[in-house]
Formats: sequence, C-alpha cells, structure tokens
Amino acid sequence: MHGEDTWHGDRPKEECGVVGIWTPGSQAARAAFFSLQALQHRGQESAGIAVNGGGQVTMRKGMGLVGAVFTDLSDLQGEMAIGHTRYSTTGASVLANAQPIHCVSTVGEIAVAHNGNLVNTKELRDELIAEGADLQTTADSEVIAQLLVRNLHLGVVNAVAVVMKRIQGAYAVTVLTPDMVLGFRDPHGVRPMVVGRLAEGFIVASESCAFVPVGAELINEVGPGEVVIIDQNGLRMAQAAPPQAHNLCLFEMIYFARPDSRMYGSLIYDARERMGMELAVEKPADADIVVPVPDSGVPAAIGYSRVSGIPFCEGMMKNRYIHRTFIQPDQRMRELGVRMKLSPLEDRIRHKRIVLVDDSIVRATTTRQIVKMLLDQGAKEVHVRITAPPIKHPCFYGIDMASTKELAAATMTEKQICNHVGATSLGYLSIAGAVRAVGRPASEFCLACFDGRYPIAVPKELSKMAFEEGAVGELATVKV
Ligand code: SF4
Repeated sequence: MHGEDTWHGDRPKEECGVVGIWTPGSQAARAAFFSLQALQHRGQESAGIAVNGGGQVTMRKGMGLVGAVFTDLSDLQGEMAIGHTRYSTTGASVLANAQPIHCVSTVGEIAVAHNGNLVNTKELRDELIAEGADLQTTADSEVIAQLLVRNLHLGVVNAVAVVMKRIQGAYAVTVLTPDMVLGFRDPHGVRPMVVGRLAEGFIVASESCAFVPVGAELINEVGPGEVVIIDQNGLRMAQAAPPQAHNLCLFEMIYFARPDSRMYGSLIYDARERMGMELAVEKPADADIVVPVPDSGVPAAIGYSRVSGIPFCEGMMKNRYIHRTFIQPDQRMRELGVRMKLSPLEDRIRHKRIVLVDDSIVRATTTRQIVKMLLDQGAKEVHVRITAPPIKHPCFYGIDMASTKELAAATMTEKQICNHVGATSLGYLSIAGAVRAVGRPASEFCLACFDGRYPIAVPKELSKMAFEEGAVGELATVKV
C-alpha cells in the first residue's frame, strides 16, 4: 500500500495532534474544537474530544476531519477538555483506535490523548494482560491510559510520574480527569508540546498554532519530562521524570509542524526559509527560476531564491481540499498520479531551467512524478533541491515512514536517486546545514532517520520489523 500511495503523497506522516484546555465560565469543547482544527495537519483520519462536567468525563470521537466529526457540541458540556486528531496507517484505521481513550477504575476515571510512539509497548501490554487488563485497542496509547488508571490511587500527578518511569519512547500526552487537565512530555522531548494562557484559563497543545484560534498566548514549551497541571487553582508545572538530553524531532522543523508554530524559539516558517538559504549555499544550481513544491516547499524556495538571486516563481498549484479519503481513484486517475493534487502553470514552466525545492524524499515516487510533470510541460532542466537530509533509517518515535527497504536514500546512491526521479541534478541539505538553519546545536535534536543514532534505545525486535514492514508505530502494537 505504501509504495503506491501517490494519491496521498509520498510524505512521512505525523501521527497525531493533542490539546488540553481549561476555559472557566465557558464550554471547553468549543475551544478544543477550534484548536484541533488548527492541528488538523497532524492527523486527518479521526478526531475526538473529551470533557468533564458534573464530576464526570464525557467523550465523543469519530472517523474523519475535525469539522466532519463535530457538527454539534451540545453533548459535550464542561469547562475542561482534551482533544485528539489522529493519523494512522491504513490497517489500523478503525474507530476503536480513535482517541481520546477513556478508562475507568474503582479509584477514578480518565481520558487520554497521545502523540508519539512507545518502544516498549509489547512488554507493557504483556504485563497488563497478565494482570487481567481487558485491552480494547491495538494502540500503545491505551497502554499509557491503563497504566495511569491503575496508579490513580497515588494521586494523578504521582501516577504520571510512576507511568513515566515505565514507558519508553516518544510521547506528548494530554489527560482529563473529573477536575483536572494534564499534559506531559517524554524525557527527551522528541514530540513537541507547548503551554499557553487564555484570557480566562490555560491550554496545552502539540503546537502553538493551536493557540491562535482561541486567542491564547504562548507561555513556554513543556520541557522534557515535565508535566503541566491545570485545575481550579490555575497552572502548575513539575518535573515528573528526570530530563534527558533534549532531542526534538528535526522533522517537525523541516516538514510536520505548521509554519506559523514556534519551536525552540523559532518561527517554523523562518527556520524553513533559512534551510532554503543554506541549501542555496551548499547545493547551488544554474537555473532561471526557483519553484517550490506547494505548500511545504514555499519558505525554503524563497530562501533559496534570496541567496542564489534566481527569481522565485510558483510553477504549480495545489488543490488544498484533498484530504485522506476512502474513495480510491480508478486506474486512469492513478496514472495521472500527482496531478490529482498538483496542477502545473504551463506558461511559467515552459523552456525554463528550474530549481525545484521540496522538503523531503521518502520513496521518491512523488518527486519522480513532479519532475516528469514539469518536463512534460516543457521545462528544459529540473534541479531538485531537498531541505531534509537523506532519510536512511526508520522512525520509531511516532512518524510513519516507509520500511527501510523502501526508503530511496537507504537503497540508492544520490546519483541513482537523481536518475530514478529523472532530474537534471539532485542536492540534499546536509544535517549540519539543517541544524544551523534552526540555530540550535545538533545535540538538541533527534536526527535518527538521517544518521541512525537513536536517542531512545530501540529493541532489536522492533528494528528488524521496521526493515521489512515499516509503519513501526502500528505494527509494534498490532503484532502483540
Ligand atoms: S527518527 Fe526522524 S522523524 Fe522520527 S523523531 Fe527522529 S527526526 Fe523525527
């Protein structure tokens, strides 16, 4: 399925966005809804909101975009809410795996929303099942929820600390109890999480773009191993697990995060523009125009143009209304491939030597189609320039890449990839260049899919599976 998935684009896929919010005096579900819409890019297959009202947790979730799942919020009454928007690989895309996950015990109840991937799910699931847990889903997120609910007798904040000692991997989690919203982040801070202030209340979310529609102001990033506690007393933050070296996913800066979000103090848009500037220095090209692959290639193409002096030119338009769908294209449409999504502006392309700027090459299927489309429209040369360094290793921390053997850069030399995609030349930004563009030391990032050095140890069994199958997040849980 992956290899031919040109319909949705050959992109690594983010696995979720989370939010937690307290809006004293008003309905939190409404604010959660608008924040989730701002996080829609992080997952388009299912969405869910849980609220607490009258000492109880109520929840609704469904398949599809946030706006399709929630056309009415009248059943979700309460001043505190958490929300989740999910991407999942095809097989496990079922409502049972949608989040938040609701867990009840004799001590209390919670709802949990998770972004990321645990690497010790199998071990924890085995333990939970041995203890008699009735696991309802294949998601590692349910493991987090079950462990939390089993430790609620310690108090919810202590329960988080206990659970953080047990779970290993990448996670940004929001939790709702009958009187509290929590947010916590793994000790390496791989997946992003930020906290903000509303005119009345507080919010925690995967990205700061979720703050904009609700008028919240960014306070800070949630630190590695930190927990945010929001209740009637306001906001507190505590260190729930000892922080390790901070290893934010570099791919958040390159592609996943929305350009209007902030991470590590940088506006993502600006960081991407600087990546384009670095790329122009490292991988110059003799050409007439710089064309971005919309939308994600735009800031980097502007940066490339600025440094190279080659004019920026939009050479294709993106249909912004195509989202993941269960309606499959017929064979003829499949042959048209990328044209379902991108439409060339012929007059701007014809007879031109083009620098084509994109964010990443995974399997190279889409790049190949775009290059062909430009050449078919009369482009004289296409010089492909990519802001992500070559992706050679799988991700175990919540990003759905291909299996290792499907990754173009894991199996081909740069020259072979260049020939494969039919480009005149190909150049990737170096890891050092990408890191320089963000303005933080390389030690502050996870770079594992580029350099193979995993900041959180990955069990052998899991890495073997990734070589054959890919989609580590789902397989890690389905398999057990
Ligand atoms: S392996 Fe790559 S995609 Fe995964 S968290 Fe690390 S940098 Fe991000």
